[in-house]
Amino acid sequence: MDPILVSIDDRLANAGDTTSLVGHVNQDVFALTERSFSLPDGMDYDVVLTNVGEGILATGILRARAVGTCDRCLDEAVLDVAAEVDEYYLFHEPDEGVLEEGEEEGPDYVLVSPDLTIDLSGALEAAFVMDVPFVVLCREDCAGLCPVCGENLNHVDCGHAAQLERQEQEDRLASSPFASLRNLKLD
Ligand SMILES: [Zn+2]
Ligand SMILES: [Zn+2]
Repeated sequence: MDPILVSIDDRLANAGDTTSLVGHVNQDVFALTERSFSLPDGMDYDVVLTNVGEGILATGILRARAVGTCDRCLDEAVLDVAAEVDEYYLFHEPDEGVLEEGEEEGPDYVLVSPDLTIDLSGALEAAFVMDVPFVVLCREDCAGLCPVCGENLNHVDCGHAAQLERQEQEDRLASSPFASLRNLKLD
């Protein structure tokens, strides 16, 4: 994502100052490690910036219509992303910023640039990633692909599922310890 630079000017000069920021990002693809989404309408954000003394807090919401691929049937999956933006930009590196030994996590803040700007793009990216589900489905009850013939079971009933189920039931009965009783005739 391209940087979205916001200057910390008079509106945010003092602790307690707040200003809101509404914007649109013209970006048509968002790629994650394992998958990518197309964004036909880009992204819209509505963020409130607050000077909290030590830094600038950015909170708000990111909205986008993300079109990806269903993990089950490989059809198109459309997600309405409404992600919570929450980022903290510190004016100065904190004194206790040194990591404890064994601690591997990076800091959970970003610094305000020396030219008094912040870059919102990282916060928007993080919000988007957090909001996208681990498993992407075209719909919650997506029936997936037939394991036998590969048909999309949302559109066609090839009959294989019912056939498999019958087969499974027969196998279960046959392996039951009472299976032999089925042929037993009681006079
Ligand atoms: Zn699906
Ligand atoms: Zn089938």
